[in-house]
Amino acid sequence: MTQLTEQLAAIVGQAAVITDAQDVAPYATDWRKRYFGRPLAVVKPATTGEVAAVMRLCAQTRTAVVPQGGNTGLCGGATPDAAGAQIVLKLSRMNRVRAVDAVNNTITVEAGCVLANVQQAAAEAGRLFPLSLAAEGSCEIGGNLSTNAGGTAVLRYGNARDLVLGLEVVLPDGQVWDGLRGLRKDNTGYDLKQLFVGAEGTLGVITAAVLKLFPQPQARATALVALESPASALALLSRMQGACGDRLTGFELMSAFCLELVARHYPATRLPFAQAYAQYVLVQLSDTANAASLDALLQAALADAAEAGIALDAAVARSEAQAAALWALRENIPEAQVHEGKQIKHDISVPISRIAEYISATDAELQRAFPGVRLVSFGHLGDGNLHYNIAAPAGADEEAFMARAPEVSRVVHDSVARFSGSISAEHGLGQYKRGEILRYKSALEMDLMRRIKAALDPQGIMNPGKVL
Ligand code: FAD
Ligand code: ZN
Repeated sequence: MTQLTEQLAAIVGQAAVITDAQDVAPYATDWRKRYFGRPLAVVKPATTGEVAAVMRLCAQTRTAVVPQGGNTGLCGGATPDAAGAQIVLKLSRMNRVRAVDAVNNTITVEAGCVLANVQQAAAEAGRLFPLSLAAEGSCEIGGNLSTNAGGTAVLRYGNARDLVLGLEVVLPDGQVWDGLRGLRKDNTGYDLKQLFVGAEGTLGVITAAVLKLFPQPQARATALVALESPASALALLSRMQGACGDRLTGFELMSAFCLELVARHYPATRLPFAQAYAQYVLVQLSDTANAASLDALLQAALADAAEAGIALDAAVARSEAQAAALWALRENIPEAQVHEGKQIKHDISVPISRIAEYISATDAELQRAFPGVRLVSFGHLGDGNLHYNIAAPAGADEEAFMARAPEVSRVVHDSVARFSGSISAEHGLGQYKRGEILRYKSALEMDLMRRIKAALDPQGIMNPGKVL
């Protein structure tokens, strides 16, 4: 043990400092296994006081700190570099629910609470915590806030940023900012908590949060709708919003090729239609009122869309099991892609109204530049957010295609810029897109971000090499 690791052990206990190379390995790589780091140590504090003491020590010794929650992030934000001098600050032991206030509709949790456990604690109080994503069994609330996570309920409830009322943050110099307020209204200057949301651990360590709760829906209605094109999907979105208002909680687009991959790699998959269509949308309604009226509302809206020639066919779930089977079509796409082979992945957003135009313009440009490429595009259409992934042409050499990833991404991202969109809608920049963003954000915007970073972290010890 070095002197520093001994001092860290004196703060958090010997068992909570890991230095053995083999034991450190799971914390030193990312979920996609794209980055492999080598930290000096993994440190697992149990309290805010311990985090503060660790940060004070790191500030004195100018030791870089990489916060880590569930380590499910998709852009290498929680992975240390390979120089062997950074510490990984693993928040998972800080996993207490500190308070639930059902009247104020808030829950106060520590950063290391697994998202599914926060949802569960809310449900036990008869409330809903709506943040929901496929990694919810292992991602942690500190990571969700630090990446401003999105997921499948953003359309109705917003992303992580919209769900937080207060934060407790340990600053890079070890001071603790107690901003754990549960107020819906508080206009007393700059909204400091929002600086830390989406900062990917570059400004401080989130140790606890006050989150918003909502009434628990009593009824859900789910349908898969077959469509001709993304443009029809947009027309359906407008109609569904008009007919159902904020009962519309999910609106997920999937191309025919996505469902073909799911059917190929999950042989138990049964598609509810006799023929294939070009595009599909998974529609989810939820309501605190009774199920019969929600079903009737969905049926009427779909009948209307069929009459207008927008919906070519629709399958409405008749049971929880059927609804789960429809959701599995959407949720199995990422794994089906993995089984199919490598893809060049993008997480983009454009204004919702322009998404169909974006898809057709970018598809055409890609086919001109890389004839035969296969587009695995799906995502949160209701938020203007697509996972616009690109696989090699059938039968082509996959490695040779993957080597052209920078050229392919350049086409996709330049097109995003022409549509006034974002090259990272929900996953963040991390180390993966920190170079790429320089092409798309103005020099002034980058300068403002660097000034905020310098003001809060003058020594540059918070997650260096990420975002900026
Ligand atoms: P980590 O990966 O541990 O960390 C992410 C970033 O936050 C890092 O930069 C890290 O340094 C920082 N950080 C972590 N904890 C703290 C803290 N306490 N204080 C300060 N900084 C901290 N994302 C979506 O938005 N929507 C999706 O639908 C979605 N689906 C996914 C599906 C799968 C199968 C997987 C594997 C990932 C998915 N993701 C999705 C990405 C990922 O799950 C989210 O980014 C999640 O919010 C990360 O949480 P985490 O606890 O794993 O964070
Ligand atoms: Zn997503």
